[in-house]
Amino acid sequence: MSADSWVRCPRCLKNALDNIQAPDYGALSRAYGNVSESEYRALLDGQLKDRDRYIKDLNRAHNLAETMREDYELGMDSEGEFTVAYSCHCTECDWSWKFNYKVQTPVG
Ligand SMILES: [Zn+2]
Repeated sequence: MSADSWVRCPRCLKNALDNIQAPDYGALSRAYGNVSESEYRALLDGQLKDRDRYIKDLNRAHNLAETMREDYELGMDSEGEFTVAYSCHCTECDWSWKFNYKVQTPVG
């Protein structure tokens, strides 16, 4: 392989996003008029903390470290064979994937 780079891993991002729980925004409207004022304020405080945690979790997920190495090669040899070769591996979750394609071009 002739080139390499480090990027964020799509599997790590998916796992991070899947583990984030959104606040239950409907809880406030369901509680309104059905609980005491102090219970409602406590619920509101909890919702604000849940919202802050949710935002932090989303930011953390979208700022994951670049743990996936990509190696790739693209080009044509002197016989006219065109090659695309790609592989990646994440050092965090151990996910890997490969793609290889070769085709003989019509050189005359
Ligand atoms: Zn990963």
